[in-house]
Amino acid sequence: MAVADVATGIRTVNHWIAGRPLASEFGRSGEVWNPAIGEVQARVDFATAKEVDRAVESAKNAFSEWRATPLSRRAEILFKFRELVDANRRRIAESITSEHGKTLPDAMGEVARGLENVEFACGIPNLLKGGFSEQASRGIDVYQIRQPLGVVAGITPFNFPAMVPLWMFPNAIACGNTFVLKPSEKDPSPSVILAELMQRAGLPDGVLNVIQGDRAAVERLLEHPDIKAVSFVGSTPVAKYIYETATRHGKRVQALGGAKNHMLVLPDADIDMAADAAVSAACGSAGERCMAISAVVAVGAAADPLVDAIAERMARIKIGPGLESGNEMGPLINREHRDRVASYVENAPVEGATVAVDGRADPVCKRGGFFLGASLLDHVKPEMRCYRDEIFGPVLSVVRATSYTEALRLINDNPYGNGVAIFTRDGGAARQFQFDVEVGMVGINVPIPVPVSYYSFGGWKASLFGDLHIYGPEGVQFYTRAKVVSSRWPDPGTSKIDLGFPQSR
Ligand code: NAD
Repeated sequence: MAVADVATGIRTVNHWIAGRPLASEFGRSGEVWNPAIGEVQARVDFATAKEVDRAVESAKNAFSEWRATPLSRRAEILFKFRELVDANRRRIAESITSEHGKTLPDAMGEVARGLENVEFACGIPNLLKGGFSEQASRGIDVYQIRQPLGVVAGITPFNFPAMVPLWMFPNAIACGNTFVLKPSEKDPSPSVILAELMQRAGLPDGVLNVIQGDRAAVERLLEHPDIKAVSFVGSTPVAKYIYETATRHGKRVQALGGAKNHMLVLPDADIDMAADAAVSAACGSAGERCMAISAVVAVGAAADPLVDAIAERMARIKIGPGLESGNEMGPLINREHRDRVASYVENAPVEGATVAVDGRADPVCKRGGFFLGASLLDHVKPEMRCYRDEIFGPVLSVVRATSYTEALRLINDNPYGNGVAIFTRDGGAARQFQFDVEVGMVGINVPIPVPVSYYSFGGWKASLFGDLHIYGPEGVQFYTRAKVVSSRWPDPGTSKIDLGFPQSR
């Protein structure tokens, strides 16, 4: 929900608290850019600690009634929400494209993948079924139930402003929790659209709240005594900070961080297929995906033809504003980030790499928006900055390896472990790789192996802090706690005093 300032005509994206938009009372705000033209298009409220407290209070007040709401009613609301998101796909996608910059078809894809998580949450009556053991001891039955935690918070990144919130709140709410979402301040509008649609679906006021803001809002959420759990998705340094701070305050935390995803190409791979996949996975959403491929590891004879095939394809990518049809890649999120990404291309020859395609030379860079063409760096070595850092832009590095063993060691030595892909026609090699690789999500001839909603998403090592992955069955586990009940019905005939420790046999 946004209101336009009468004097400037510029809209302000507000919070959504207790079922309605709420403008910030304290005057802190930030700019929301349109990356395709490089201009400010809106302002967004930045919550103070007091406003965060209001959102948490609203969620807390809604909790006891919401957790008592029958599962079938919760599922009914989620079904209705599913229908509303489906009917509003384009509106949500346009809002994503306008604030993030990714192309409209890509944004439609984001909404579609988010919708799968809503569909999963619609199955909540089945998902919350517990186990039951009859006659665990004489006359005693034991069963487990899973109960919601209370008020839970979600803190989300700029690169999937609709999908990542949908990884979190549908499951959390279906499980009986109430939710406070703090979306990225860079593209805050899609979250408010989703909250509005949840309300139209019949969600009681206060069950879902959106608080806009920056670090100050996050800090308050992390220490707030009424927040029981925090789901975070963003960069690794912030993920680590969130994990350490929120666990210190006694909260359950899952904090998903950044990535450096490799694509291993064996000499027997279909080079055209591998090149298509590498370019799609490196340049889709201008490389601003946590599952983007940023390093191709080419083994032996695969390297030369692969570099040629990737370079030829990169030069053909159509770059321009995401709302203009036919464009395949949009701008980066803001000027600072575009310049930072370009600096890796500038620095690559200094470190000894070869610039096979220089995206800075693309004519699109002269447009007003935050555009940068796709770049290909060859002969990259593990100690180079362009290999070590998560660039988060359309820059693909090629590292040449002499063997599978050398390539595997490189991948396993990397501090990140989000996604990885292997391209080969050899089933045995692929199976060995799946066994060996220390990464949470693996693709076999699949470049972006984001799990479907009925599995769970999560990396290893510096790509995830916490124990449980996000969404899917692990999401349900994260948003509930188990209670085990041992029950006996009175049978006066067998009752006696027994001070011994209870035994089951
Ligand atoms: P970010 O870490 O800068 O911000 C994420 C969220 O944290 C935002 O809501 C932001 O307001 C807040 N935040 C930022 N700095 C903070 C601080 N110092 N203290 C407290 N809160 C802070 O991430 P981003 O730039 O929005 O998103 C890109 C990053 O997210 C990339 O590193 C990408 O790999 C990662 N990401 C990971 C996944 C995953 O599933 N592992 C998915 C999407 C994005």
